[in-house]
Amino acid sequence: MALNGAAVAEGRRDQGGNMSQAHIRRAVVTGGAGFVGSHLCERLLDAGAEVVCVDNLATGSAENLRRLARHAGFSSIEADVTRPMRVAGRVDAVFHLASAASPRDYLRLPVETLEAGSLGTRNALDLAAEHGARMVLASTSEVYGDPLHHPQHESYWGNVNPVGPRSVYDEAKRYAEALTMAYHRTHGADVGIARIFNSYGPRMRPDDGRAIPTFIRQAMAGEPITVSGDGMQTRSVCYVDDTVRGLLALAGADITGPVNIGSPHELSMRALAELVRSVCGSDSPIVPVGRPVDDPRFRRPDTGLAARALGWRPLVPMEEGLRLTVEWFAGAPAGHPPEGREAEPTAGRA
Ligand code: NAD
Repeated sequence: MALNGAAVAEGRRDQGGNMSQAHIRRAVVTGGAGFVGSHLCERLLDAGAEVVCVDNLATGSAENLRRLARHAGFSSIEADVTRPMRVAGRVDAVFHLASAASPRDYLRLPVETLEAGSLGTRNALDLAAEHGARMVLASTSEVYGDPLHHPQHESYWGNVNPVGPRSVYDEAKRYAEALTMAYHRTHGADVGIARIFNSYGPRMRPDDGRAIPTFIRQAMAGEPITVSGDGMQTRSVCYVDDTVRGLLALAGADITGPVNIGSPHELSMRALAELVRSVCGSDSPIVPVGRPVDDPRFRRPDTGLAARALGWRPLVPMEEGLRLTVEWFAGAPAGHPPEGREAEPTAGRA
């Protein structure tokens, strides 16, 4: 990795997610106009780094770019990561987040999602190699599929339907992980793979089909809150600030991973819907709707590796994270989406 040795050593001593402040002076964030990516860009900029965002706005938001552009150190390139990327000047880290991520998005963009995971990951790895930079891949808990081991430890290989509708996302990320490790083994690429478990927070799109924004939107509108199946399937949700700290901690560590970045606190979707309803002060009824194909029954990360190798653990309690998210959704003036975002059509859950 072509980084200043002293800065790296300093950065890698601080494993709580503050490494970036010490050694990343300039980063490329693919997918920086999206939900997690925009928070990551902001955190890097706040720490004094320069950030180059590469995004084609397939699922991201121009408003996120406008907000980031207020920082002097921010620049963005509107480009598709499936085409080779060129970034002039110094690059210390490449964070590869560009990919549709919500089921509604990747089911609408199946081939694009496979290509962002395959061609896009290759281009991100090549960009990092060209600059001697570390590449951090935003992988997902979806690589575990409908897991047969619980909680999910990084050593578990997963239970994924390779031809089902969700395979376009799950297999794209599994391929992306395999390619990342092949670059590491073959070319000595400096890489880190984060398996992100459901992240949530401000800037999620109210209509992206993911559970928390859907529940919030429904509860705030006094509409029925739709929970799929009997609601007993579980998830572990992590506030976006914690997710971003995990990505930064991995950027500063000497491990390839994969490493789980998520909350070890597991709850049923029914319990999550009840909690959102209570935080919103809503009396919406909770009603069942059909379960999506291959919807996982359980999801909970084993976070031991993240704790040991990165010194990372989530810090934001769920009630607090949900309150901040609800406040953000509620911050919109009547008839307008939060933070001046372009109006988007609302729809039922995926
Ligand atoms: P998002 O849809 O909000 O952001 C993805 C961004 O990538 C968008 O700005 C989109 O325009 C951009 N993008 C998509 N395809 C692109 C392409 N071909 N070229 C350039 N840009 C492209 O999603 P998110 O929730 O912020 O997720 C970000 C990353 O984190 C994704 O890789 C996702 O798989 C991963 N992840 C997220 C979660 C989560 O809970 N949010 C969980 C697991 C993994």
